[in-house]
Amino acid sequence: MIERISTAYYRLPLEPSGDAGHGSLDTEELVTVELAAEGLVGHGYAYTIGRGGRAVRALIDHDLAPLLVGQEAGDVDALWERMWRGLLYVGRGGLAAFAIAALDIALWDLRGLREGKPLVALAGGTARPIPAYGSGVDLPKPLDGLLRQVEGFLARGYPGVKVKIGREDFEEDVERVAAVRRLVGDGIDLMIDANMGWSLGQALERGGRLAEQNPYWLEEPIIPEDVPGHARLARELPMPIAIGESLHSPREFERYIAERALGVLQIDPVTNGGITPTLRVLEMANQASLPTSSHYTDELSAHLLCASTNPIYLEKHAFALDRYLERPQVVTDGKVRPTDDPGTGLRFDREALRPYAAD
Ligand SMILES: [Mg+2]
Repeated sequence: MIERISTAYYRLPLEPSGDAGHGSLDTEELVTVELAAEGLVGHGYAYTIGRGGRAVRALIDHDLAPLLVGQEAGDVDALWERMWRGLLYVGRGGLAAFAIAALDIALWDLRGLREGKPLVALAGGTARPIPAYGSGVDLPKPLDGLLRQVEGFLARGYPGVKVKIGREDFEEDVERVAAVRRLVGDGIDLMIDANMGWSLGQALERGGRLAEQNPYWLEEPIIPEDVPGHARLARELPMPIAIGESLHSPREFERYIAERALGVLQIDPVTNGGITPTLRVLEMANQASLPTSSHYTDELSAHLLCASTNPIYLEKHAFALDRYLERPQVVTDGKVRPTDDPGTGLRFDREALRPYAAD
């Protein structure tokens, strides 16, 4: 039985950075959850890119924890439904998805501890290495800074790199992507990410021009509500369209898949509403034979992508939480593996987090 749920809130400083959709970024918010049941403690978390974290924590403390305390911890699917239903009126996505996710991640961790199995096994996957790509949040960086960052990714052995696009002057995007392609050569995969900064018309025209640099995918070209627009881009542009980090439930993914509006499905077990819905989404991707990748959540995604039949890349994010973890994720030959310990294997280093604790 779930006996106790506690939360903490941190404001983690980021090197000032930004992208075309979310503007300037200098803070990551982290909400951690500890969920105690029968002598074990499951750990979970949610993050934001600077706003909304306190509301996520309040939803957990005031609205979701009372729905879980006193319940049996074992049936995670049923508990996820209970939380989703409990916030239905103010939910079906948005902040509610983040709050539910933090608890759902803790419930999966707890289940792993109880059963003595790593998350990858609970997810029905076979542990195996997944290629990782170096991912920058670099839109404001001058060109030489951008190239230095990419050189750093190459030095770490990543077989792919991603850069942000969506500068106010599109000619700068063209110049920057071409310069990165010249730097990395043809043997490295080059992803580009517009973070929803374009209109559909811009995406059609600009995506067509950037296709000259043979990008591996074009990520979040336009707002996520425009599924038909994504379907048109998927039909008319030569590179695959990647999306997922801004979708907050399996239903949203379902529409994208039904309308053939994406070419690479990206999971994020925090923004997608938890591990429970992410596994449903991966099952849909398998049914549709869609390649998968991940957004942020490097440690959890190393487990979950093993449940995909075609996991092409894990995103090794510039903001990765590694420096705040007891055991940072290991990258070997440009690949990552899920951890072997029971549960998620993710434990925060409270000493490293302590200076950033906030109310
Ligand atoms: Mg992105």
